[in-house]
Amino acid sequence: MEIIIVGAGASALACGITALKSGAKVTLLDKKDSPGRKILATGNGRCNLTNTFLESDCYNSTDLELLEETIDKYKTKEIMDFFNKLGLMLTDVSGYIYPNSKQSKTVVDVLFRTFQKYGGDFIPYCEVNDIYLNEDNTFSVKTSITEYSIVKLKNREKLVPNNTYTKSFNCDKVVVATGSRAGTKDEENIGYTIARKFGHKINPTVPALVPLYCHSESNREFFVDCKGVRANGKIDLYSIYGDVRELICSDKGEIQFTENGLSGIVTFQVSASANRLLLDKKCERVEIELDLLDSLREEEILKFLISDRQLLEKTTFRQLICGIINSSIAGTVCKEVIKEYGGFISEYNNYQSAIANIIHLLKHYIIVVDGSGDFENAQVCSGGILTEEIKNSFESKIVKNLYFIGEVLDVDGKCGGYNLHFAWASGIISGENAGKSEDTDD
Ligand SMILES: Cc1cc2nc3c(=O)[nH]c(=O)nc-3n(C[C@H](O)[C@H](O)[C@H](O)COP(=O)(O)OP(=O)(O)OC[C@H]3O[C@@H](n4cnc5c(N)ncnc54)[C@H](O)[C@@H]3O)c2cc1C
Repeated sequence: MEIIIVGAGASALACGITALKSGAKVTLLDKKDSPGRKILATGNGRCNLTNTFLESDCYNSTDLELLEETIDKYKTKEIMDFFNKLGLMLTDVSGYIYPNSKQSKTVVDVLFRTFQKYGGDFIPYCEVNDIYLNEDNTFSVKTSITEYSIVKLKNREKLVPNNTYTKSFNCDKVVVATGSRAGTKDEENIGYTIARKFGHKINPTVPALVPLYCHSESNREFFVDCKGVRANGKIDLYSIYGDVRELICSDKGEIQFTENGLSGIVTFQVSASANRLLLDKKCERVEIELDLLDSLREEEILKFLISDRQLLEKTTFRQLICGIINSSIAGTVCKEVIKEYGGFISEYNNYQSAIANIIHLLKHYIIVVDGSGDFENAQVCSGGILTEEIKNSFESKIVKNLYFIGEVLDVDGKCGGYNLHFAWASGIISGENAGKSEDTDD
């Protein structure tokens, strides 16, 4: 049984190892020079490879059934066992699982070493351009392979392409594991082209786990003032249509403010939903409501600020608010609410309602979202090949012996190891199934 895996990333390596163990002959083809290139960049070079909290609502997918079956079969423990058996010791940092080395390179090393140990073949600089189903139900995988020479420059060596030729690989089964455009300069992903050709449908893709842009005039001053600030808070994402304001999702933790809008993990977690709303154009506006004091109720904050009358003597509104929140945020929000209150708080009879207004704004600050970073700035891609057309073995329901795994599918997870978890789990399940000589799945 000969299997070709298109791509040599996270899901492909897990699939390759498992299929080899089942006795198949496996070849990985990748357009890059070495396997697992994207894994190297994960978790800021430390590779957050799974998470002890694993639920289906950590993921987006048009049809969650395949994802649910996958994480039910391969839970956190099973993925950790898989790596332990490869000799990789893991460490748990508040539920986020990393290699004990805290180096993503060790993850790639153990995977590729195991793949080679079981006799797997890897062909670098091999770009897959198309796949054909032959009359005898085998596949031909069309590629272009580039050969490079090392040119010695004054201070360094440079790889220069000197020959590109086409080559076709024949096999019994093909696994498409081409990932996505996220984190790359690629303009397209061949996985979708192949899937479409064989009759699969694609959920349009958007960048996910990516900074959000908020360029509206009403927020411009806020972002100029708060650029560079990191503050804890809660983000509620809303779609606005006429009078209807629908809460889509929420997250809380550290929010980073940039000149263009919002960044940081909390923003990343809601970014797929925000981009999906912007793409579908089913609402008039996409808004974020920021709660910058989410651990306290408005009455509690007001009580804290006004209970000591002396605190308000010879104190401006801005100085008072600086006692409870980052000074740049305090400055810009105070400016908005109390344009007419320039002096000390104690000079105004209605100071309580002015302070209450500032607190209200800090807990309900509205930002209009109008875009995001592009795929190159994103960690993953939301959308992809629809999973309702994929069996729980990851074989296509349309074409026998053709498999799709990993991020090329319409499954994307939150930050926290969820995307790699799905890559490993889909890789292992497909490898177990494709590696068998006889199909015994559903
Ligand atoms: C900066 C960054 C940080 C991240 N951090 C984390 C993290 O900490 N935890 C987490 O869970 N997830 C993280 N992710 C997401 C995670 O890396 C991916 O979800 C995961 O790698 C997807 O695995 P995959 O096998 O589907 O695709 P990939 O690992 O991307 O592999 C796809 C492979 O296919 C190859 N390929 C594509 N087209 C062709 C072609 N035409 N011919 C031949 N080869 C081709 C590519 O070169 C690539 O090697 C991060 C992503 C980025 C960009």
